[in-house]
Amino acid sequence: MKVIAVSGGVISGLGKGITTSSLGRILKARGIPVTIVKIDPYLNVDAGTMNPYQHGEVFVLDDGTEADLDLGNYERFLGQSLVGTHNLTTGKIYRSVIDKERHGDYLGNTVQIIPHVTGEIKRTIREVAHAAGAEVVLVEVGGTVGDIESMPFLEALRELSYELGEGHMAFVHTTLVPVVGPVGEAKTKPTQHSVRELRAIGIRPNLIIARGLTPLAPEIKAKISLFCDVPPEAVISVPDQSVIYEVPLVLEAQGVGQLLSQLLGLPDRPPDHTTWKEFLATYRRGEGSVEIAVVGKYTELRDAYLSHIEAFHHVQGHLGKDVRLQWYDSEDIPKNPNLLARLERADGLLVPGGFGARGVEGKIRAIQLARTAGIPFLGICYGFQMQAVEFARNVLGLERANTTEVDAGTPDPVVGLLEQQKTLNDLGGTMRLGAQRIMLTPGSRIAEIYGRTEIWERHRHRYEITPDYFERFRANGLAITGKSVDGRVEALELPAHRFFIGVQYHPEFLSRPESPHPLFLALVRAALARQEVASPVAAPPTVA
Ligand code: GLN
Repeated sequence: MKVIAVSGGVISGLGKGITTSSLGRILKARGIPVTIVKIDPYLNVDAGTMNPYQHGEVFVLDDGTEADLDLGNYERFLGQSLVGTHNLTTGKIYRSVIDKERHGDYLGNTVQIIPHVTGEIKRTIREVAHAAGAEVVLVEVGGTVGDIESMPFLEALRELSYELGEGHMAFVHTTLVPVVGPVGEAKTKPTQHSVRELRAIGIRPNLIIARGLTPLAPEIKAKISLFCDVPPEAVISVPDQSVIYEVPLVLEAQGVGQLLSQLLGLPDRPPDHTTWKEFLATYRRGEGSVEIAVVGKYTELRDAYLSHIEAFHHVQGHLGKDVRLQWYDSEDIPKNPNLLARLERADGLLVPGGFGARGVEGKIRAIQLARTAGIPFLGICYGFQMQAVEFARNVLGLERANTTEVDAGTPDPVVGLLEQQKTLNDLGGTMRLGAQRIMLTPGSRIAEIYGRTEIWERHRHRYEITPDYFERFRANGLAITGKSVDGRVEALELPAHRFFIGVQYHPEFLSRPESPHPLFLALVRAALARQEVASPVAAPPTVA
């Protein structure tokens, strides 16, 4: 097993996740089996209980793990699906150490951070690498060097490097080189300090990745090299890119692939980036643009919708059209009629997932507009549930229809709790989670989009469409076109509309640069088609 540990210095939010993903990508391009593990030093067992405003979206894996959003970056850059063991948290590690202690596994010993917690960390990393069949495992340590929380993890990695021996482990340190002052001077001092911090705990970085707005001048590279004790060719400049998928090529151009191969004694094969480069070339083609409105409630923090944004980038890299997202805070829509007027001019509408009562009325108004004005619409999870509520209210005439998540006393609970959810007390990891098999109705629009009738998609929800309304939906033109094998509604569509589809699951988690998700692709295609048709198409037959 070979390990590449990626730490961060100076500040968080440097794009360490993208850097790590890109390092993985360039090794994979050399035919080396790789995998990535993310360490999140917080005490939460997983990201599932955290508000998206704290750490961005919760990324769901096939096995139902609610993970840090970097796992999404890894999956997208590596083009491979990961499992929950690839996201280590302090919460998980402590839980397993404490369980073992209660079980008597430590045979009377005093249980301590070193060696027991560090031992558990090393054991987990080895196990994950083994289970993934990877030759190289990249380990990204969340947070910034010097944080108390990340100490046990860095210590474990230091120990691991000693245990694995010379030539088996590389340390990559990502730092910020800020440009300050009237003459725009690049400052290396913060980098020097953070490297000193690393060396104080016995880690000497092999590679320094300097982040900043602009490329590093050779003399700045030389300075970092001298002060931080790394060869000049191992000081890598990664300035901000307009699209993150450039980063592997930026690293490649500075010889990072060869450097890592040498450090780890890997075969130095030439990389194959053909499909990646094709994706980027199409992405940049920019033959026209299309505007997709996104109506959600966490619009101030774009990371809360990261996978959706990336899915649209993947579509852009496939169609060569600029996909522009217009963000609407759903809470503002009922207050400001101008917003609906603006929304009506969008080429397409996406209503993503969400939780709670805040902002739902705005989502419902936006969906109603999409239905009646013929705007291509894709509803995801909460957006799909609101599609059902909107239809019940405005087409079936059930004025107070709602989800019981918002109105527990609604006379028409079109969306209600899953049976097994009614008796739950714990919130962590208790939703309907992960990949589930779904059967699509042959001949439906959605089956045509996927090109098959059996799909697997990832879920994260507690509520679902209640069976009492199935018949009335059907009778009024809203077709149920996807069901799980145990009979839950997974997809709704309005065949009379050019594109009006909602899904209970989260397609955004499965979109990849080299294989954009078919539903996102179809939404953008429908939006482009709407642009071409000057006159609005006929609204569906039963519009209230
Ligand atoms: N709040 C809804 C539910 O729990 C939808 C969840 C979501 O959009 N992820 O069912």
